Amino acid sequence: MVVQVSQPTYEQKTQAIARELISATREKRSLFAQMRDQMRWDDRLLAFAMDNPGLRVQLFRFIDCLPALHSKAEVARHLQEYLGDPSVELPEALKGLLNFANADSVPGQLAATTFSKAVETLAHKYIAGETIAQVIKTLDRQRQGKLTFTVDLLGEAVITEAEAQAYLNSYLELMQQLTEAAKKWSPVEAIDSAEGEPLTKVQVTVKLTAFYSQFDPLDAVGSQKKVSDRIRTLLRRAQELGAAVHFDMEQYVYKTLTLATLKGVLLEDEFRSRSDIGVTLQAYLRDSYSDLQDLVTWAKERSTPLSVRLVKGAYWDQETIKAVQHDWPQPVYSQKESTDANFERMTRLLLENHAHLYAAIGSHNVRSQAYAMAIAETLNIPKRAIELQVLYGMADKLAKAMSDRGYRVRVYCPYGELIPGMAYLIRRLLENTANSSFCGKSRGAPGRRTAHGS
Ligand SMILES: Cc1cc2nc3c(=O)[nH]c(=O)nc-3n(C[C@H](O)[C@H](O)[C@H](O)COP(=O)(O)OP(=O)(O)OC[C@H]3O[C@@H](n4cnc5c(N)ncnc54)[C@H](O)[C@@H]3O)c2cc1C
Repeated sequence: MVVQVSQPTYEQKTQAIARELISATREKRSLFAQMRDQMRWDDRLLAFAMDNPGLRVQLFRFIDCLPALHSKAEVARHLQEYLGDPSVELPEALKGLLNFANADSVPGQLAATTFSKAVETLAHKYIAGETIAQVIKTLDRQRQGKLTFTVDLLGEAVITEAEAQAYLNSYLELMQQLTEAAKKWSPVEAIDSAEGEPLTKVQVTVKLTAFYSQFDPLDAVGSQKKVSDRIRTLLRRAQELGAAVHFDMEQYVYKTLTLATLKGVLLEDEFRSRSDIGVTLQAYLRDSYSDLQDLVTWAKERSTPLSVRLVKGAYWDQETIKAVQHDWPQPVYSQKESTDANFERMTRLLLENHAHLYAAIGSHNVRSQAYAMAIAETLNIPKRAIELQVLYGMADKLAKAMSDRGYRVRVYCPYGELIPGMAYLIRRLLENTANSSFCGKSRGAPGRRTAHGS
């Protein structure tokens, strides 16, 4: 399939906005701040890892198993095993730290403590808090910076029905505490209203697979029934409390069932007039453009807008490998350019249908966000119908620059214990490597690009 994009009208404006955003996000740090950062272990570890693929893979494997290690000696032994691998090029300082003969020795313990602390600090960069109280403090801070939020509870694999029910209960509790805290927040006009219409201050994000332990497209009817019951409970309580709810999109295998389930519930009389609910579409999927077209038609029939968070998709490696293993057609584009081009096509379709769908553009890519802004500013899209989103800790300066330009910016804030959050963290770290600069990309401007999604 060939994705062709031709929108010369937005190209110039996109590039101009992107340049402004880039200049607004340029480093303006003092020499002292730069020196201080250079001395931080977590930053050094991440910087070394990003520059060295061998180290990166081993470091992420180590982080993945860290939650299961219960003593410093175990940590030290695994450290040597993973990072002592000959394929791993280590900077001298780290080599010295790992140079111990016995995992139980003082140097072994020192290495274990140093690495565990560095990993923990790293996790805190991407996880908004380990408890609801900590998250509320983070959200308070964000609101002072005119950034709104959505909160996601970490802990991804639900194996039993008791866990699925516990997941729902945790969300009910989370919404209760957030809306309670929200009563004390003074209004921030940029994020709490749009064209005079008040917006909900609290939003949570949920994953459908965690609502039912047997969520499975092979039992579409049974899964839909069970999950729909839990969605209804969540949406009813959200309405009582005054919270908005957004649904993440997960692996491709769940996509059709996820969309069918949500569309089914949202057409019921009780939920049909709710405009504070959202779904996510992933532009790396070859069929995502037609999913969006279907959603536009569906939203017109429903006659109350729904939010669509447009992202590129977080499971690219997994989807690609799975399709090869099973000899299935690839559901995802194989070239980054095709995903980028499709993301822009979908952004345009979404924004041109702003009367029926509200757009939430989720990306840390300056070009992708600038393109949405260029359309929004050209078409004079109402503020209610567009917001820009980033993940917590991933694009702070971009978030500020977009907010300063007058957009409602929502930060996706994961919260929960660091141990179940590790899988999430690893994915975020892997994404960190993909964010190449706008200037590099602008040489082949998507407005003129033909991308082959082979
Ligand atoms: C607020 C928010 C919410 C999110 N929610 C979800 C969610 O519910 N579900 C979900 O799956 N993800 C979600 N994500 C993650 C998102 O899908 C991306 O993984 C992440 O944002 C990186 O994309 P980017 O546009 O920021 O960066 P970019 O660097 O521009 O794009 C990176 C993305 O390009 C794609 N890509 C990379 N290599 C290739 C290739 N060879 N061929 C084709 N495509 C490729 C992948 O999707 C990769 O993530 C969310 C992100 C944000 C900001």
